[in-house]
Amino acid sequence: PYPKESCPIHTVLADHNTRRGQDEVFWRQDGTSFFVQYVCAPVMKTGKCVGVVVIFEDITERKYAYEAMRQSEAQLRLITDAVPALIAYVDTNQCFRFNNKAFEQWFGLAREQVYGRHLKEVLGELAYQAIHEHVEQALTGHRVNYEAPIPYQQGGTRDINASYIPDIDGQGEVKGYVALIHDITAHKQAEQRLAYLAHYDTLTGLPNRTLLNDRLSQAMARRSAAHQTQVAILFLDLDHFKTINDTAGHSIADALLREVGERLSACVRIGDTVARLGGDEFAIILIDLIHKIDVGQFVQKIPDCLSAPFKIDGHEIFVTASIGVSLYPDDGLNAETLLKNADTAMYLAKQRGRNCYQYYSAALSAKAATRVSLENSLRQALARDEFVLHYQPQVDLATSRITAVEALVRWNNPRAGLVLPAQFIPLTEDTGLIVALGEWVLHTACAQNKAWQLAGLPPIRIGVNLSARQFQQQNKRTIVNHILHILQETGLDPHYLELELTESVLQTIEVAGMLRTLRGTGIQIAIDDFGTGYSSLSYLKRFPLDKLKIDKSFMQGVPDDPDNVAITTAIIAMAHSLKLKVIAEGVETLAQLDFLRSLKCDEIQGFLFSCALPAPELQELLAAQSDTL
Ligand code: C2E
Ligand code: MG
Ligand code: MG
Repeated sequence: PYPKESCPIHTVLADHNTRRGQDEVFWRQDGTSFFVQYVCAPVMKTGKCVGVVVIFEDITERKYAYEAMRQSEAQLRLITDAVPALIAYVDTNQCFRFNNKAFEQWFGLAREQVYGRHLKEVLGELAYQAIHEHVEQALTGHRVNYEAPIPYQQGGTRDINASYIPDIDGQGEVKGYVALIHDITAHKQAEQRLAYLAHYDTLTGLPNRTLLNDRLSQAMARRSAAHQTQVAILFLDLDHFKTINDTAGHSIADALLREVGERLSACVRIGDTVARLGGDEFAIILIDLIHKIDVGQFVQKIPDCLSAPFKIDGHEIFVTASIGVSLYPDDGLNAETLLKNADTAMYLAKQRGRNCYQYYSAALSAKAATRVSLENSLRQALARDEFVLHYQPQVDLATSRITAVEALVRWNNPRAGLVLPAQFIPLTEDTGLIVALGEWVLHTACAQNKAWQLAGLPPIRIGVNLSARQFQQQNKRTIVNHILHILQETGLDPHYLELELTESVLQTIEVAGMLRTLRGTGIQIAIDDFGTGYSSLSYLKRFPLDKLKIDKSFMQGVPDDPDNVAITTAIIAMAHSLKLKVIAEGVETLAQLDFLRSLKCDEIQGFLFSCALPAPELQELLAAQSDTL
């Protein structure tokens, strides 16, 4: 292919120097090309060049094979570099022959610092010690898979999952092995975190219900029957926690729960368990108790441990707890029953007035079961339309006429007959059912009042009782909106609706805004059971109010009981000087009536005039009154 001046044969002939050529492209007569490698050497004879020897070699095949190999190696690198796992090939001398980029990055080394080096050199002595047994196994032709923590050069340890795949040739000889390594540190941490979450309460860091059950089962298994020891389970519920949560806010309530957890944990012995079951419920396992008295002594310590006020964020919070106790083996043979029985006992402690403890007993449990069944039928009562309203007249003392009625709910229970509110309202408040029931009452009362008006009776106000819970449960807008919506739906003029609230509702300043909105529409606001709420009287100035209802307990013994006379006299005088109307409840005798008249009490309500009546009877009373007009 050469012109004469650059042809190697001619140049060798001219200067007698051997020439070599690499990758020269030669052409065949038929026009195809091939790669050639050649040596062209002079043949010297007595100092004269007599010819040249040329050896040509067709290297086309070799060249293509080499290209193919380079290409496949580049592809291999591309592929292995794309893998996040660490990949390496180690030969029988335990030296690296290949590694991917992830491998270099993990060790912080360049390829040259790995290639050809011994494992120990690259990994460091400690890491090598941790894995060398697995390496030897792989080099004897076994596939190895293991997880281990490995000292990490950049500090600490990392968890790895490694697979070693031996490289065995056709003769069965091991040539080395491929190592495939995943860093599973993050995964392990997530696993540990999950295990923690599954067993501990995140707010307090105390064991949760699952771990409590485990510990309880362990304690039961380890209990020494020979020594007749007992295991006690305490179910502890904070009293009035809901109020704290609603008034002080969630973050303070959370901090309170944490501190309660800490104080309880400080009370117990090593080996005992304090757990949080959720909300304001805690459980304590006391192990190896010799006598029941030991439990009593411990339980009596709890009020002391909680008695110092909790100082949180500038607030001073006082906390008490109701505690139920069950004992293994007396009160149950498995964790579930023991916990359930302790819970039942706690429930009874709450009913006994809270801030006390109660041992489980089967007889008491039956009582609690009645309550549960009452609770269940109460849930269905609304859907089954079992509630009715009775209406008790309120009489204006100046005119002796009925100016209002109070709507009082009753439960027409198919088995128990007519149940009075004292027996079920507290339960509906505990369960939150009061919200739906309250709406039903309000709607029915407003609709009834409108119906009387449409029937041509003289218009009167209707008083409806609202529970504190109705204000807490719903956000401010909804309770106000609900009331306004019901008025709109029933078409009752707001002036004919009076809401009866107890002093406990007026604990938060937000309620003032809600009441202002309601009162702005013409609705009247009365304070029910006035004088029993133990709260500061300053709310009488702060809240927009129309009326005080003197609690019926103050009517007892009037006009002979000097204390009740003094209280009633003072309430009426105070109400009038604050420009509030005042009504006395529970008026049963003429003597009481005369006394109230003499004090210029505005209205009365009581059995003297009428008890609460079903709607048709009340309608007759109203109709009779309008006839006499
Ligand atoms: P309250 O609002 O103070 O209602 C007055 C209670 O005193 C009624 O009892 C009534 O029957 C009773 N009473 C009326 N006159 C006399 C009397 O001369 N002597 C005596 N000893 N008692 C008299 P009731 O109907 O059993 O209601 C008890 C409480 O249940 C109510 O007290 C009220 O707090 C609550 N309640 C009733 N209905 C509802 C309701 O719809 N919603 C809510 N949240 N609470 C209600
Ligand atoms: Mg009332
Ligand atoms: Mg009352």
